[in-house]
Amino acid sequence: MAQEKQPQRKKIEATGQMMQIMSDYFYDLNAAAKSAERKVAWCTSVGPAELLRAMGFAVHFPENHAAMLGATRMATELIPEANTIGYSPEICSYLTADIGAYLKHVSPLAKAYPGIEAPPRPDVLVFNTNQCRDVQDWFSWYAKELNVPCIGICSPKNHTEVSEVLIDDVSRQIEALIPTLEEVSGQPLDLQKLREVVALSRECTELWRQVLETAAAAPAPLTFFDATIHMGPAVVLRGTPQAVAYYRRLLAELQARINSGTGAVDDEQFRIYWEGMPVWGRLRQHSELFAGLQTSVLVSTYCSSWIFPDFDPLDPIRSMAKAYLSLFIVRSDAYKETYIKRMLEKFHIDGIIYHDAKTCPCNSNSRYGMPQRLEQQTGIPSLVISGDLNDLRCVSDEQTITNVEAFIEQLEERKHHA
Ligand code: SF4
Repeated sequence: MAQEKQPQRKKIEATGQMMQIMSDYFYDLNAAAKSAERKVAWCTSVGPAELLRAMGFAVHFPENHAAMLGATRMATELIPEANTIGYSPEICSYLTADIGAYLKHVSPLAKAYPGIEAPPRPDVLVFNTNQCRDVQDWFSWYAKELNVPCIGICSPKNHTEVSEVLIDDVSRQIEALIPTLEEVSGQPLDLQKLREVVALSRECTELWRQVLETAAAAPAPLTFFDATIHMGPAVVLRGTPQAVAYYRRLLAELQARINSGTGAVDDEQFRIYWEGMPVWGRLRQHSELFAGLQTSVLVSTYCSSWIFPDFDPLDPIRSMAKAYLSLFIVRSDAYKETYIKRMLEKFHIDGIIYHDAKTCPCNSNSRYGMPQRLEQQTGIPSLVISGDLNDLRCVSDEQTITNVEAFIEQLEERKHHA
C-alpha cells in the first residue's frame, strides 16, 4: 500500500493576511454591537448578506461561530446544554453548540480576540432555509431570547432547474424583507450601494472559484483542509473589498506553487473528492492522515458552495435570488450527481469520500443511494465515513483511520491493475 510518511504540513504564506482581516472583522462586529449608531444583523451562510451589508449592517454569521466552536473542540461539551432545553442531540450540532455556548456564556472569540467576550448582540436576525430548516429554528430561539425581529426567506428546495418561477418567488421574499430592515437600520435601501456590494460579492466568488480550481493541477497546490480555513473571508466578508484583496493574494501564491510544481501533499499519489462537511474538531488529524498516505483530498462540494456566478450588479435582487437558489445543497439529487460527475472529471479524481454527518442530513448525500449510482456510472470507488461536523461523540477515530487506509489500499490495487 501507499507508504506512510511523516506528513509535512505546508504553510500557506497568505495565512497571516487572512488572520488579520478576520481579526479586523471580529473587532469591527464587536465595536458595532457596542455603538449606538450602528446596527448588527445575524445572517445564515447563504442568506441575503448582500442586502444587509448594503443597508449598513455589521453582519455576523452564527454558522461561522459554530464552526469555531467545532474547530476549537469546545462544541461537544456545549451541545448537552442545548439538549437540556429541548433541542435534540440528533439535530444540527451547529445549532446546539452555538445555543449551548450562549447558555454557558463562553465563546472561542474570547480566547482568540482579547477584549471580545461574545458574538455581537443582534438588532435583527435574517435566515434563508435554502440549506435546512434548522437555521430558522436556531434564529427563532434567539429572537425570543433577545426580543429582536426574526425575518427570512423560506426557500423552495430539491429543484433540478432554477426556473424563473422560483426566482420570482425568492425575489419577492427578498423584497419583502426590506421594510423591516429599513425600520431597524433607520435608513432606506440605496440601490446603488446594493449594486456595489453585489459586484464585490461577484468578484470575491470568482476569485474563490479560481483559488479552488488551482487544485485541478497535479500535484494540487492546496487541499480541502486548507480550503476550509481559507474560505473564512468568502463566508463572512463577501461583498467587501477586503475579501477580494485577500483572494488575489492567495491565488497568486497558489499559482506560484503550480509553476514550481509544489504540491500541498508531498509525492501526491491519489486524488480524492470530499463530499459533505468537514469534521471541524479533526481537521489537523484528517489532513495528516491523508498526507501520510500520499493522498490529496483536493476538492469538495462544501468549499465550492461559496461560488456564486449568478450575482449581477445590473439586476441585484433577482440575481441574489438566483444565486441563493443555485446552491448545491438546495438542489435535487439529479442535479447534484451531474455536478459531482463534472467535478470528478475536472479534478482527475481517483476516489470519493462521503462524510455522513450524523446531525446534518442536508449535507450528507450518502443516504439515498448516491454513492452507488455514481460509482456505477463513473467506475470511481467511494467510501462513506460516519461522523459529525461538531459532535465528536459521533466520530470514531480508529474506524475512520482503518477505513481510510483500506480505501487507499483499494485505490492502489486499482492503479496497479489498470
Ligand atoms: S446545513 Fe447542516 S450544519 Fe448547516 S445549519 Fe443546516 S443542519 Fe446545521
